[in-house]
Amino acid sequence: MRKISSFIMACAMCLSMTVVGTVAPQVAVQAEETATVELKEAPKAPSTYKTVAGYDCQLNYGDDAEEWLSAIDKVEVNGIEYEKATSSYSIWNNAKYYAKATLDSSDSTDVRYLLIGEGKFEKDESAVNKVVISADGYKDLVLEVNKDGKTVAIHTKHTGGTATCTKKAVCDFCGEEYGECASHNYGDEYESDGTYHWKKCQNEGCDATTEKEAHKGGEATTTKRAVCEVCGAEYGDLKQEDPKPADKTTEGKKDDTKPAEKPDRKTVKAKKVVVNKKRIVLKKGKKVKLKVKLKPANATEKVTFKSSNKKVAKVTKNGVVKAVKKGKCKITVKTASGKKAVVKVTVK
Ligand SMILES: [Zn+2]
Ligand SMILES: [Zn+2]
Ligand SMILES: [Zn+2]
Repeated sequence: MRKISSFIMACAMCLSMTVVGTVAPQVAVQAEETATVELKEAPKAPSTYKTVAGYDCQLNYGDDAEEWLSAIDKVEVNGIEYEKATSSYSIWNNAKYYAKATLDSSDSTDVRYLLIGEGKFEKDESAVNKVVISADGYKDLVLEVNKDGKTVAIHTKHTGGTATCTKKAVCDFCGEEYGECASHNYGDEYESDGTYHWKKCQNEGCDATTEKEAHKGGEATTTKRAVCEVCGAEYGDLKQEDPKPADKTTEGKKDDTKPAEKPDRKTVKAKKVVVNKKRIVLKKGKKVKLKVKLKPANATEKVTFKSSNKKVAKVTKNGVVKAVKKGKCKITVKTASGKKAVVKVTVK
């Protein structure tokens, strides 16, 4: 029966134009491609599909497919590589393919075609045969062909596989990656350094992190650094000691340490302390620096500043007065030997 059919097939080949068109392509959309190499697209759809006697599959094309047809160098059916045949007559029932790219004088039609033998086709009712056609310089064309080679569709709907956050899903049918990666799983825990916090993807093998954000919030004390309100990490510096107690300690220390150095450079005592202002009026929050001169001009004594009410105005060891809240107070400028000047401060 097959032998008889093969004769019919041979005739059918000659008359392919007249017997084509039993089945139209189901889909003519080009497959989604992610290849980075610049490859040409295979012809999107044969002009017609048909079977030639038996289950062999013939894909007919117009002359625009000549280049592609002559570049075909590999045909795989269900993962099995087919042998390239030199004539259409040897295709019958075999695992062979034949590409007719150019026409010759014996051709009665202008149809060019790719003939794929049914040799490795699955014949189950539910079978969808995977046919991959490779042509040099072109993207592979993946076809879904039914059991008798009559229904042919370009494979476009990738299915199956599971996307992870690092890898796209792999199509069960064609083995290509498709779709998008799954989103990262950042969880609730932060990682941090001295300045930033961020989250790291919890999924195995994934190094993705969220963007780094600076720590924020929390308040430093003199003994404990600020705690970031987002990630809970400590950050920044300790709070500086209050200027006034610091004054005392430093001055105290200076008094303790200086004497050792003093003998070779004698301190010239001041006879008078002169401040550039006798009274100052400040708005709350404002600052002003007091300029102090000692007389005689060659006096080398250090001076200290002291506020009579630091709730109203504070003063630093360098003489910068800061208005804290409404009220009045005095800033006393004093030398170690006891000379002093007083500045009246009004905070409005
Ligand atoms: Zn696929
Ligand atoms: Zn991830
Ligand atoms: Zn943080």
